Amino acid sequence: MAHFTVIGLGRFGLTASIELIHMGHTVTGIDKDEKLAEQYAGQLTQTLICDVTDERALKELNLCQSEAVLVAIGEDMQASLLCTLHIKNLGVKDIWVKANTAAHHTILSKLGVTRIVHPEEEMGARVAQALNYPMVSDYLSVGHGNYIVDIHLPLTFQPTSIKQLIKGFENSIHCLLLKREQEVTQSPSASHIVRERDTLIMYGPKEALVRIAPRLK
Ligand code: ATP
Repeated sequence: MAHFTVIGLGRFGLTASIELIHMGHTVTGIDKDEKLAEQYAGQLTQTLICDVTDERALKELNLCQSEAVLVAIGEDMQASLLCTLHIKNLGVKDIWVKANTAAHHTILSKLGVTRIVHPEEEMGARVAQALNYPMVSDYLSVGHGNYIVDIHLPLTFQPTSIKQLIKGFENSIHCLLLKREQEVTQSPSASHIVRERDTLIMYGPKEALVRIAPRLK
């Protein structure tokens, strides 16, 4: 269990805060809007009212005790940047910031934050992926162009071996896990037959995974 601080309790900040709470963490939510701080006090570990452009006010909040601070102010770029600068000066090491525009992103990247988040773009990309490859229910980038993908084989899928499925990409694509109803097989063998409704967790470079996608229909 870790403690996080989320600055800005708009839709994005609040959703991230509540998810963290559901995952078993504690969250301090900060907003300058008194009504929002009061409204969400019962759902988060604590909520504080603070104008985060005020460095002295931020100093009082012991932000360094948080595992990470998420700055979730989108519209007011000046407030987001000032807040980020202040919390960096206060010694917070892990800072995630929501950016709304390219200019916002550029300045944040100069400030050296841990991660700049573009919720609309990231969600848009995920939705496009889902529309393009409906059998891919989730994916995770693990760097250097490699991905772990969670594939649900559709009802139209004809039984075939894993060997056949990854033919031509045996050296780059690895089937990490096969789930059939309640049964889970780790590193299933190449001769294992997969069928409709199976869930496969696969690892490999994006280009190779895209090439085998038509075989997953
Ligand atoms: P959403 O997540 O709803 O899309 P958004 O990107 O439009 O939000 P804003 O609504 O601008 O972002 O900001 C999110 C929250 O941050 C709001 O609740 C707002 O009151 C709060 N906020 C903005 N400026 C400050 C500030 N200087 N200090 C503290 N909180 C602030």
